[in-house]
Amino acid sequence: MKDLSVVIPVFNEELNIGPLYQRLKATMEKLDLSYEFIFVNDGSSDKSLELVKMLAFTDKNVKYIDFSRNFGHQIAVTAGLDKTTGDAVVIIDADMQDPPELIEQLYHEYRNGNDVVYARRRHRQGETALKKFTAGFFYRILSKITTVSIPVDTGDFRIISHKVVKALRNMPEHNKFLRGQISWIGFKQTFVEYDRNERAAGKTGYTYRKMIRFALDGITSFSNFPLKFASIMGFIVSGISFILILFALYKRLINGDTVKGWTSTVIIVLFIGGIQLISLGIMGEYLSRINDSVKNRPLYIVRDSNIEESTS
Ligand code: UDP
Ligand code: MG
Repeated sequence: MKDLSVVIPVFNEELNIGPLYQRLKATMEKLDLSYEFIFVNDGSSDKSLELVKMLAFTDKNVKYIDFSRNFGHQIAVTAGLDKTTGDAVVIIDADMQDPPELIEQLYHEYRNGNDVVYARRRHRQGETALKKFTAGFFYRILSKITTVSIPVDTGDFRIISHKVVKALRNMPEHNKFLRGQISWIGFKQTFVEYDRNERAAGKTGYTYRKMIRFALDGITSFSNFPLKFASIMGFIVSGISFILILFALYKRLINGDTVKGWTSTVIIVLFIGGIQLISLGIMGEYLSRINDSVKNRPLYIVRDSNIEESTS
């Protein structure tokens, strides 16, 4: 049993792995902890895996899990968490946007009796205005419609106790939204603040497509509010149509002329059609996630690892 496990998802990070390892190791030595670093290679197409294997060759505290393909960031973190043996676990990005030195503060708060200490971003550098805006918007909407309170302006950079790791392992859901799941689990949670840097090297592995999917995973996993959209819109549209009926009758019976025109008809048809398609789409999002769960496939496939089976 180690004092601390560090889980590092890796997707095409060849330029970052060396410096990251140095900084992590320096932090561990400063804290004087026994540690393990679990690198999860999420289908990188560059030299990331070779570099991690070289580190594992010289440092027996370095573990790796190599996926058969790219399964995505949340799944990579989950695979790492499945194999940790530490009393506490840190989840950290490989691109050094999460400064490894902050682990010292996180660990300090953990030793003060907190089960979850997440790192909250004070500023974000080097990210596009669009990304900051969409992320900010998303987290504020999410906090409005969910029942668990998911902290805003945080990523997955955090320290969690073994108790929380065990609870996470018992949550077999397929569409992972770890920061939400960890809030849902509860225990004593706190945060420390930090300034988020630019990615040290390489480029982001999160395409807009992956980000939208992730956002939808968050919403569908933690809120049924969108499902109520159809009924709410149903009432609103019925209300509007009732007023319009009265208006049409008034025109016909009192004024003696009819409401005429192509415009009004087309507006009505498109309006109703739009709302119906949106409602169907929302149901589709939930349905596809139910489908993923029902198939019950493994979350990831491991090609290679230096962690023995028995430790899991
Ligand atoms: N990552 C991953 N699989 C992916 C995309 C990203 O394992 O499909 C890793 C990546 O190597 C990094 C972390 O997840 O360690 C965060 O990704 P990234 O920095 O690309 O996201 P951003 O910070 O731009 O949101
Ligand atoms: Mg990043």
